[in-house]
Amino acid sequence: MTASLFWFRDDLRLADNPALISALAHGPTLCLYILDEGGDRRPLGGAARWWLSRSLAALSADIETRGGELVLMRGDPATLVPAIVEVAGIDHVAWNRRYEAATIALDKQLKETLGAGGVTVESFNAALLNEPWQVKGKSGDWMKVFTPYWRAARALGEPAAPKPAPKTIASLPLPKTLGRQALSLSDLDLEPSKPDWAGGMRAEWTPGEAGARARLTDFLGGVLKGYADGRNRPDYLSTSRLSPHLRFGEIGPRQIWHATHSALASGEAAGTESDAEKFLSEVGWREFAYHLLFYNPGLATENYNRRFDDFPWKPNAKALQAWQRGRTGYPIVDAGLRELWTTGWMHNRVRMIVASFLIKHLLIDWREGENWFWDTLVDADPANNAASWQWVAGSGADAAPYYRIFNPVTQGGKFDPRGDYVRRWCPELAKLDDALIHEPWAASAPELRDAGIVLGQTYPKPLIGLDVGRQRALDALATLKPV
Ligand SMILES: Cc1cc2nc3c(=O)[nH]c(=O)nc-3n(C[C@H](O)[C@H](O)[C@H](O)COP(=O)(O)OP(=O)(O)OC[C@H]3O[C@@H](n4cnc5c(N)ncnc54)[C@H](O)[C@@H]3O)c2cc1C
Repeated sequence: MTASLFWFRDDLRLADNPALISALAHGPTLCLYILDEGGDRRPLGGAARWWLSRSLAALSADIETRGGELVLMRGDPATLVPAIVEVAGIDHVAWNRRYEAATIALDKQLKETLGAGGVTVESFNAALLNEPWQVKGKSGDWMKVFTPYWRAARALGEPAAPKPAPKTIASLPLPKTLGRQALSLSDLDLEPSKPDWAGGMRAEWTPGEAGARARLTDFLGGVLKGYADGRNRPDYLSTSRLSPHLRFGEIGPRQIWHATHSALASGEAAGTESDAEKFLSEVGWREFAYHLLFYNPGLATENYNRRFDDFPWKPNAKALQAWQRGRTGYPIVDAGLRELWTTGWMHNRVRMIVASFLIKHLLIDWREGENWFWDTLVDADPANNAASWQWVAGSGADAAPYYRIFNPVTQGGKFDPRGDYVRRWCPELAKLDDALIHEPWAASAPELRDAGIVLGQTYPKPLIGLDVGRQRALDALATLKPV
């Protein structure tokens, strides 16, 4: 009889979890999660730690109902995993693959160490429809542009059907000598207490596999209707909000793919085929981001386009802080950053607007924004976050044209036409007319008085004039040297 170790990482689910199935097929399995505190892996941000805590609680309960146990530890997996394997007499280890350079290096090192001791190590794909190296351009090279990437990915055919969750989990207990290493969830100290800033997140989210499944079902049966056009609207529920569930692997893209197609086929989907296609192509952007990250390991810290290395950024701690706190004086920007601070999430359209404002109008380095999002997003994702920030900056592969500068007033009027989104997150502006809600400085003195607004006191004056900021950005961009 052999004994297995299954190491949970970014795959906190039981269904469609190929490495878990492989481990259980080999024999009693020690199910392990390690809060990684070693090496040069990027630590999780605060909001993601909150999510992780709730997700582990849900996972642990799901494993217990199947007769198993989830062991929690903290430290460096490079030393913990081999120690457990040796003491517990484990001869088979399984995990699902990750794609950041530092995690790949860790897994490679562990594979060698364990393999040298005669342990079989198996790894699987649970996170992507296609792993980065599976999608290639005509020349056999990796791909820099989304549309041909997605075409090539689609040409690889349907993803494999997701496997059901195991009905039972035969657990291998942690040997007594290692007992002191096992921690309770509260020992991991993942949730904030003083102060407890997670109230808005608790109200918004249900982390865990069941929560992810429920979101997908609700989405396909409702919000999918009109998604192809409506997905840009932050003023109502217009997207799936699956991103944090995907980030932690509580649901995988194969499950999303097949659930979407079967909902269409059975008539249970509220939307049309083109809504579904658009939705799956957004999942495709996530795939593309992982493709880019795999071939550009420095995506979160280095300009993909080296022309930007000499960009004349204007570091400004005060302006950065005003942006972070949602006090720029631009309502749609402030609403987005307050939504982020309260719920750990922000609508995609607003992410683009706030990122453009930071990078272009304030001339603050995109890495400052990437870091802030990393700390405050519940879906903070090593590939999506880095690729998206570089996309907005214009420094990325297949990026927005670098001279595109979002005007927050025009964007607000287009995507939040009645100002409902701004009113929700900037209640001090609630009484302004729809026509003025995205530009309170344009209101007359009586209009401001009637709305109870004193600019510079109850709501900030604009941090920088739109035209001045735009021209300054264009001048800075004009200094970029040709490649
Ligand atoms: C500056 C900036 C930073 C971002 N940082 C992150 C991040 O850290 N984590 C993250 O998951 N997404 C990030 N995104 C992408 C996008 O905003 C979110 O994935 C999306 O808002 C999640 O909402 P949803 O689940 O309702 O999306 P839906 O519209 O329902 O899309 C379904 C899924 O497709 C994927 N997806 C959708 N849009 C994109 C996109 N533009 N790029 C890559 N994948 C996408 C997500 O996994 C999403 O859950 C960022 C975008 C910008 C502009």
